[in-house]
Amino acid sequence: MDYVCELKNISKRFHTINNETLAIEDLSFKVERGEIVSIVGPSGSGKSTVLSLLAGLEKPSEGEVIVNTKSIGFMFQKDQLYEWRNIYKNCILGLEIQKKDTKENIDKVIDKLKNYGLYNFRNYYPRQLSGGMRQRAALVRTLAVEPELLLLDEPFSALDYQTRLSVGNDVGEILRKEKITTVLVTHDIPEAVSISDRVIVFTERPARIKKEYIIEFNMPDEKRTPMKCRNTSEFGEYFREIWRDLDVIEK
Ligand code: ADP
Ligand code: MG
Repeated sequence: MDYVCELKNISKRFHTINNETLAIEDLSFKVERGEIVSIVGPSGSGKSTVLSLLAGLEKPSEGEVIVNTKSIGFMFQKDQLYEWRNIYKNCILGLEIQKKDTKENIDKVIDKLKNYGLYNFRNYYPRQLSGGMRQRAALVRTLAVEPELLLLDEPFSALDYQTRLSVGNDVGEILRKEKITTVLVTHDIPEAVSISDRVIVFTERPARIKKEYIIEFNMPDEKRTPMKCRNTSEFGEYFREIWRDLDVIEK
Protein backbone atom coordinates (compact mmCIF):
# COMPACT_ATOMS: atom_id res chain seq x y z
CA MET A 1 0.00 0.00 0.00
CA ASP A 2 1.19 3.48 -0.83
CA TYR A 3 0.91 5.76 2.21
CA VAL A 4 1.45 9.51 1.98
CA CYS A 5 1.73 10.00 5.71
CA GLU A 6 1.72 8.12 8.95
CA LEU A 7 1.57 8.94 12.65
CA LYS A 8 3.18 6.24 14.81
CA ASN A 9 2.38 6.18 18.54
CA ILE A 10 2.33 9.96 18.76
CA SER A 11 2.04 11.84 22.01
CA LYS A 12 2.15 15.61 22.23
CA ARG A 13 2.50 17.73 25.36
CA PHE A 14 2.31 21.50 25.43
CA HIS A 15 4.10 23.30 28.22
CA THR A 16 3.06 26.65 29.53
CA ILE A 17 4.55 28.55 32.45
CA ASN A 18 2.58 26.76 35.15
CA ASN A 19 1.10 23.71 33.55
CA GLU A 20 1.33 20.98 30.99
CA THR A 21 -1.35 19.88 28.53
CA LEU A 22 -1.34 16.39 27.11
CA ALA A 23 -3.01 17.09 23.76
CA ILE A 24 -2.43 13.71 22.08
CA GLU A 25 -1.71 10.30 23.55
CA ASP A 26 -0.42 7.26 21.68
CA LEU A 27 -2.15 8.10 18.42
CA SER A 28 -1.47 6.13 15.25
CA PHE A 29 -2.98 6.28 11.78
CA LYS A 30 -1.95 6.26 8.13
CA VAL A 31 -3.35 7.94 5.05
CA GLU A 32 -3.26 6.16 1.71
CA ARG A 33 -2.42 8.00 -1.50
CA GLY A 34 -5.60 9.47 -2.98
CA GLU A 35 -7.59 8.94 0.20
CA ILE A 36 -9.78 11.63 1.76
CA VAL A 37 -9.78 11.26 5.54
CA SER A 38 -11.75 13.42 7.95
CA ILE A 39 -11.05 13.88 11.63
CA VAL A 40 -14.00 14.80 13.85
CA GLY A 41 -13.93 15.26 17.60
CA PRO A 42 -14.79 17.55 20.48
CA SER A 43 -13.28 21.01 20.37
CA GLY A 44 -9.90 21.17 22.05
CA SER A 45 -9.35 17.45 21.47
CA GLY A 46 -6.15 17.90 19.47
CA LYS A 47 -7.36 17.90 15.85
CA SER A 48 -5.48 21.00 14.74
CA THR A 49 -2.39 19.74 16.55
CA VAL A 50 -2.46 16.61 14.38
CA LEU A 51 -2.41 18.77 11.24
CA SER A 52 0.46 20.85 12.64
CA LEU A 53 2.41 17.64 13.28
CA LEU A 54 1.77 16.45 9.71
CA ALA A 55 2.81 19.83 8.34
CA GLY A 56 5.99 19.75 10.43
CA LEU A 57 4.97 22.93 12.28
CA GLU A 58 5.09 21.06 15.59
CA LYS A 59 7.30 18.19 16.74
CA PRO A 60 5.83 15.20 18.59
CA SER A 61 6.82 14.66 22.24
CA GLU A 62 6.90 10.92 21.58
CA GLY A 63 6.45 8.79 18.50
CA GLU A 64 7.20 9.32 14.86
CA VAL A 65 5.64 11.35 12.05
CA ILE A 66 6.38 9.98 8.60
CA VAL A 67 5.48 12.14 5.62
CA ASN A 68 6.39 10.74 2.22
CA THR A 69 6.19 14.01 0.32
CA LYS A 70 7.59 17.49 0.46
CA SER A 71 4.62 19.14 -1.20
CA ILE A 72 1.99 19.86 1.41
CA GLY A 73 -0.86 22.32 1.00
CA PHE A 74 -2.51 23.82 4.08
CA MET A 75 -5.82 25.66 4.22
CA PHE A 76 -7.34 27.18 7.33
CA GLN A 77 -10.69 28.47 8.46
CA LYS A 78 -9.67 31.95 7.44
CA ASP A 79 -8.75 32.13 3.79
CA GLN A 80 -5.53 34.17 4.28
CA LEU A 81 -5.94 35.95 0.97
CA TYR A 82 -3.90 39.14 0.64
CA GLU A 83 -6.19 42.14 0.33
CA TRP A 84 -3.73 44.13 -1.78
CA ARG A 85 -3.44 41.44 -4.45
CA ASN A 86 -6.24 40.72 -6.85
CA ILE A 87 -7.67 37.19 -7.10
CA TYR A 88 -5.40 36.14 -9.95
CA LYS A 89 -2.33 37.49 -8.16
CA ASN A 90 -3.36 35.74 -4.96
CA CYS A 91 -3.79 32.46 -6.81
CA ILE A 92 -0.32 32.50 -8.37
CA LEU A 93 1.40 33.60 -5.14
CA GLY A 94 2.52 30.09 -4.15
CA LEU A 95 3.91 29.48 -7.63
CA GLU A 96 5.82 32.78 -7.47
CA ILE A 97 7.28 32.00 -4.05
CA GLN A 98 8.40 28.55 -5.20
CA LYS A 99 9.65 30.02 -8.49
CA LYS A 100 7.38 27.69 -10.41
CA ASP A 101 5.43 30.44 -12.21
CA THR A 102 5.98 28.94 -15.66
CA LYS A 103 3.47 29.48 -18.46
CA GLU A 104 2.32 25.88 -18.12
CA ASN A 105 1.60 26.20 -14.40
CA ILE A 106 -0.05 29.58 -14.81
CA ASP A 107 -2.31 28.14 -17.52
CA LYS A 108 -3.38 25.46 -15.07
CA VAL A 109 -4.29 28.15 -12.54
CA ILE A 110 -6.34 29.93 -15.20
CA ASP A 111 -8.14 26.63 -15.95
CA LYS A 112 -8.92 26.25 -12.25
CA LEU A 113 -10.22 29.82 -12.03
CA LYS A 114 -12.54 28.94 -14.92
CA ASN A 115 -13.63 25.61 -13.43
CA TYR A 116 -14.33 27.14 -10.03
CA GLY A 117 -16.35 30.04 -11.45
CA LEU A 118 -13.78 32.68 -10.59
CA TYR A 119 -12.31 33.61 -13.96
CA ASN A 120 -14.59 36.62 -14.46
CA PHE A 121 -13.56 37.85 -11.04
CA ARG A 122 -9.81 37.40 -11.49
CA ASN A 123 -9.14 41.15 -11.42
CA TYR A 124 -11.28 41.74 -8.32
CA TYR A 125 -9.80 42.18 -4.87
CA PRO A 126 -10.69 39.75 -2.07
CA ARG A 127 -12.92 42.28 -0.23
CA GLN A 128 -15.11 42.50 -3.37
CA LEU A 129 -15.96 38.77 -3.24
CA SER A 130 -18.36 36.71 -1.14
CA GLY A 131 -17.04 34.37 1.56
CA GLY A 132 -17.64 31.33 -0.64
CA MET A 133 -15.78 32.80 -3.60
CA ARG A 134 -12.88 33.80 -1.38
CA GLN A 135 -12.65 30.28 -0.03
CA ARG A 136 -12.65 28.86 -3.57
CA ALA A 137 -9.88 31.30 -4.49
CA ALA A 138 -7.91 30.14 -1.46
CA LEU A 139 -8.34 26.58 -2.69
CA VAL A 140 -7.10 27.49 -6.19
CA ARG A 141 -4.04 29.08 -4.61
CA THR A 142 -3.40 26.01 -2.43
CA LEU A 143 -3.86 23.56 -5.33
CA ALA A 144 -1.80 25.68 -7.77
CA VAL A 145 1.43 24.24 -6.41
CA GLU A 146 -0.04 20.74 -6.85
CA PRO A 147 0.42 19.48 -3.30
CA GLU A 148 0.55 15.72 -2.82
CA LEU A 149 -0.99 16.10 0.61
CA LEU A 150 -3.69 18.61 1.44
CA LEU A 151 -4.40 19.55 5.07
CA LEU A 152 -7.68 21.36 5.67
CA ASP A 153 -8.49 22.79 9.11
CA GLU A 154 -12.21 23.60 9.36
CA PRO A 155 -11.97 25.32 5.99
CA PHE A 156 -15.68 26.09 5.68
CA SER A 157 -16.61 26.98 9.23
CA ALA A 158 -16.49 30.74 8.71
CA LEU A 159 -19.14 30.50 5.97
CA ASP A 160 -22.88 30.79 6.43
CA TYR A 161 -24.86 27.54 6.18
CA GLN A 162 -25.96 27.74 2.51
CA THR A 163 -22.53 28.80 1.28
CA ARG A 164 -20.91 26.16 3.39
CA LEU A 165 -23.05 23.45 1.78
CA SER A 166 -22.32 24.62 -1.71
CA VAL A 167 -18.58 25.28 -1.26
CA GLY A 168 -18.22 22.00 0.65
CA ASN A 169 -19.90 20.24 -2.23
CA ASP A 170 -17.67 21.91 -4.84
CA VAL A 171 -14.47 21.28 -2.92
CA GLY A 172 -15.39 17.68 -2.10
CA GLU A 173 -16.07 17.01 -5.76
CA ILE A 174 -12.77 18.57 -6.84
CA LEU A 175 -10.71 16.61 -4.30
CA ARG A 176 -12.28 13.34 -5.42
CA LYS A 177 -12.01 14.07 -9.14
CA GLU A 178 -8.38 15.13 -8.83
CA LYS A 179 -7.60 12.29 -6.38
CA ILE A 180 -5.93 14.64 -3.92
CA THR A 181 -4.81 12.99 -0.69
CA THR A 182 -6.54 15.01 2.00
CA VAL A 183 -6.82 15.20 5.77
CA LEU A 184 -9.84 17.33 6.67
CA VAL A 185 -10.51 18.48 10.22
CA THR A 186 -14.12 19.46 10.80
CA HIS A 187 -16.71 19.42 13.55
CA ASP A 188 -19.48 19.09 10.97
CA ILE A 189 -20.45 15.40 10.81
CA PRO A 190 -22.47 15.63 7.55
CA GLU A 191 -19.56 17.40 5.90
CA ALA A 192 -17.13 14.70 7.03
CA VAL A 193 -19.37 11.84 5.90
CA SER A 194 -20.29 13.33 2.53
CA ILE A 195 -16.73 14.23 1.52
CA SER A 196 -14.61 11.40 2.94
CA ASP A 197 -13.48 7.85 2.29
CA ARG A 198 -12.84 7.44 6.00
CA VAL A 199 -13.85 9.29 9.15
CA ILE A 200 -11.73 9.12 12.29
CA VAL A 201 -13.55 10.05 15.50
CA PHE A 202 -11.35 11.45 18.28
CA THR A 203 -11.97 11.13 22.00
CA GLU A 204 -11.91 14.14 24.31
CA ARG A 205 -8.39 15.37 25.03
CA PRO A 206 -5.91 13.71 25.00
CA ALA A 207 -6.76 12.72 21.44
CA ARG A 208 -6.96 9.04 20.78
CA ILE A 209 -8.99 7.26 18.13
CA LYS A 210 -12.43 6.47 19.48
CA LYS A 211 -13.76 4.97 16.28
CA GLU A 212 -13.04 4.79 12.62
CA TYR A 213 -15.52 4.48 9.75
CA ILE A 214 -14.87 3.43 6.16
CA ILE A 215 -17.44 5.50 4.28
CA GLU A 216 -18.98 3.78 1.29
CA PHE A 217 -21.98 4.68 -0.80
CA ASN A 218 -23.73 2.59 -3.35
CA MET A 219 -22.48 4.59 -6.34
CA PRO A 220 -19.39 4.57 -8.56
CA ASP A 221 -16.58 6.75 -7.24
CA GLU A 222 -16.44 8.89 -10.41
CA LYS A 223 -20.11 9.77 -9.97
CA ARG A 224 -19.84 10.44 -6.25
CA THR A 225 -20.46 14.00 -5.09
CA PRO A 226 -21.06 15.20 -1.52
CA MET A 227 -24.57 16.33 -2.45
CA LYS A 228 -25.55 12.91 -3.86
CA CYS A 229 -24.14 11.22 -0.77
CA ARG A 230 -26.32 13.39 1.46
CA ASN A 231 -29.41 11.96 -0.24
CA THR A 232 -28.69 8.30 0.52
CA SER A 233 -29.90 6.13 3.39
CA GLU A 234 -26.32 5.11 4.27
CA PHE A 235 -25.61 8.79 4.94
CA GLY A 236 -28.20 8.93 7.71
CA GLU A 237 -26.80 5.79 9.29
CA TYR A 238 -23.22 7.07 9.35
CA PHE A 239 -24.45 10.38 10.71
CA ARG A 240 -26.36 8.78 13.59
CA GLU A 241 -23.48 6.50 14.56
CA ILE A 242 -20.90 9.27 14.61
CA TRP A 243 -23.31 11.56 16.43
CA ARG A 244 -23.61 8.90 19.12
CA ASP A 245 -19.82 8.46 19.28
CA LEU A 246 -19.46 12.15 19.96
CA ASP A 247 -21.90 11.74 22.82
CA VAL A 248 -24.02 14.60 21.60
CA ILE A 249 -27.41 13.02 22.35
CA GLU A 250 -26.71 12.14 25.97
CA LYS A 251 -25.77 15.71 26.94
P1 ADP B 1 -8.83 21.17 18.33
O1 ADP B 1 -8.26 21.59 17.01
O2 ADP B 1 -9.31 19.75 18.37
O3 ADP B 1 -9.91 22.10 18.80
P2 ADP B 1 -6.15 21.77 19.30
O4 ADP B 1 -5.32 20.78 18.58
O5 ADP B 1 -6.13 23.17 18.78
O6 ADP B 1 -7.66 21.24 19.42
O7 ADP B 1 -5.69 21.83 20.83
C1 ADP B 1 -5.62 20.69 21.67
C2 ADP B 1 -5.20 21.12 23.05
O8 ADP B 1 -3.85 21.56 23.06
C3 ADP B 1 -6.02 22.29 23.61
O9 ADP B 1 -6.21 22.10 24.97
C4 ADP B 1 -5.14 23.49 23.36
O10 ADP B 1 -5.40 24.50 24.30
C5 ADP B 1 -3.75 22.91 23.51
N1 ADP B 1 -2.78 23.62 22.65
C6 ADP B 1 -2.78 23.64 21.30
N2 ADP B 1 -1.76 24.35 20.82
C7 ADP B 1 -1.08 24.80 21.91
C8 ADP B 1 0.11 25.58 22.10
N3 ADP B 1 0.81 26.05 21.04
N4 ADP B 1 0.51 25.84 23.38
C9 ADP B 1 -0.18 25.36 24.43
N5 ADP B 1 -1.30 24.61 24.33
C10 ADP B 1 -1.74 24.32 23.09
MG1 MG C 1 -8.78 23.23 15.80
